[in-house]
Amino acid sequence: MNPVFARLPTSIFEAMSMAARERTAVNLGQGFPDFGWPDDVVAKAAEALTGAASQYPPMRGLPELREAVAAHYGRHQGLALDAEQVIVTSGATEAIAASLLALIAPGDEVVLFQPLYDAYLPLVLRAGGVPRLVRLTPPGWRITEDALAAAFSPNTRLVVFNNPHNPTARAFDETELALLARFCVDHDAIAVSDEVWEHVMFDGLVHLPLSAMPGMAERTVKIGSAGKIFSLTGWKVGWAVAAPDLAAQVARAHQFVTFTTPPNLQAAAAYGLGKEHDYFTAMRARFQEARDVLQAAVEGEGYKVLPAEGTYFLNVDLAASGIAADDMSFCTRAVEQCGVAAIPLSAFYAEAPVTNVVRLCFAKRPETIEQGVAGLATARILFEKA
Ligand code: GLN
Repeated sequence: MNPVFARLPTSIFEAMSMAARERTAVNLGQGFPDFGWPDDVVAKAAEALTGAASQYPPMRGLPELREAVAAHYGRHQGLALDAEQVIVTSGATEAIAASLLALIAPGDEVVLFQPLYDAYLPLVLRAGGVPRLVRLTPPGWRITEDALAAAFSPNTRLVVFNNPHNPTARAFDETELALLARFCVDHDAIAVSDEVWEHVMFDGLVHLPLSAMPGMAERTVKIGSAGKIFSLTGWKVGWAVAAPDLAAQVARAHQFVTFTTPPNLQAAAAYGLGKEHDYFTAMRARFQEARDVLQAAVEGEGYKVLPAEGTYFLNVDLAASGIAADDMSFCTRAVEQCGVAAIPLSAFYAEAPVTNVVRLCFAKRPETIEQGVAGLATARILFEKA
């Protein structure tokens, strides 16, 4: 077996969701909503399933979806794109895999930010990349010039970026993006920018696409996800958007990863992307409300949280909450004995993990949150006794 994968455990999201299913625990671990998806988008998919072709769509995606993605980013983020620049993939993870397989040559150095989403590092290693990790430190998780200077070198070929950032829930600001852009330009590096949480931002924050920074349009592969935009995470419809030459390179790998993506789901995503601004504003407001409900409830149980600017996630600081246990022991006991699943942040580290932070998904109905927090209250009592 390939050593990259032989060394890896099952993904923490799958492991925790499996444990939650086995024990019928409330799942505040893996990031998926239990409310909030648009019924009309689902109805479109159903209509397309029975009424339209179910044979292979074009390898780069249905023209209507490619056009809808380009137009959507024009309307929402001011990007000037055309459909030629869009490659539709089977989820954002496939878009990232195809981009890394296409753009990394063995021995190329790749800059990544730690904590890192669990798929990034194995995909970089499998593509032959040599990782250079930039450490983000709680509670601010800021990108600094010193940290970038230590990671970039004349051999840097690519950067894997994620904004808003999972698991820290940070939305990096314009200063941080400009800094990263300057390093990419100075080192002639490509950025694979995972922006799947671009619509899930709070408190009036506005998403800044990395490709809009000076010098970045021609060197950024922007990754997006219909699953995240429409709260339909199981659909696995995503895309990579890049300058035409770069997009063509990504397509060369994509054609041998999944080749195409179900056309019916693509048609529904195309329809959904055309929704009015109000839809997206209302969606954000509902998730923000859920964040506030979870935050108030866990604080009511004596937990201390870190700020959540975007994503579906709120992080709890165990040490600051007076719990001495490490995140993995806490999450294991919480799911096995207290009826609630959460994600230990240490799972997002390749080295020297932060072990006092636990990630909770708040994209849940109030009753789900209430049940989950009851479990967290039990966990607190257990750990205080220990
Ligand atoms: N993005 C989701 C999360 O962070 C997990 C996706 C998955 O399970 N592969 O929870």
